[in-house]
Amino acid sequence: MTLSRTAHPARIQGQARRRRSAAPQPQLSFLNCRFESLLEDARGTLEIEPALRIHFAIVPFDFLACIQRDRRAESECTVLLHALLNRPDTPRPVLAHIALHELLHLKIPGREIDGQYCKHPPEFGVAERACVPWLPLSLEWIHLACGHHLRHCPQQQGFRVKRGWQRCYAEPFPDWELVRRLVDSRAYPAHPHRLLQPPDGSWSSLWTAAPC
Ligand SMILES: [Zn+2]
Repeated sequence: MTLSRTAHPARIQGQARRRRSAAPQPQLSFLNCRFESLLEDARGTLEIEPALRIHFAIVPFDFLACIQRDRRAESECTVLLHALLNRPDTPRPVLAHIALHELLHLKIPGREIDGQYCKHPPEFGVAERACVPWLPLSLEWIHLACGHHLRHCPQQQGFRVKRGWQRCYAEPFPDWELVRRLVDSRAYPAHPHRLLQPPDGSWSSLWTAAPC
């Protein structure tokens, strides 16, 4: 069965070796703004302790974005942004949303709910909606621009970027104002977020923090 195959030591070692050999190199930024500045803005908004050093890297794998605490240095962390969004036509409000979401993980860590670890507990969603008033529009833009590249992973409580995303990389992203008008129009479907909304109904499961 799948379980025994997955648990076989040789198979696990092989997977780890392939992961190491495929370790992605950080990319140069093609964003239309400095993501580091957005992280600093988010730090101020969320009143993150000044002593914490926040690094940033663009990498072509795994989640759309995540934050990792450095295991060797308590006072350092890194926000990773997927290369799928490393383009000049990724709207600044979406990037600002991502910066706030990731740093919010520092303020509101995951916790156990009904015997299961939850990376985005209800209070996380409440805080995110409070500090990102444009959250529904941002999620809608992500759905329209990247929804077909994302795969929901219940175990990791987040969305992974599918393989082969580079094949559609040349297609332009939708314009932010166009999406705003679309959402505002009555012709738009009543539940436009259905493809991005995870089964538990939480808006905040788009990204996930790596375990600290
Ligand atoms: Zn998250």
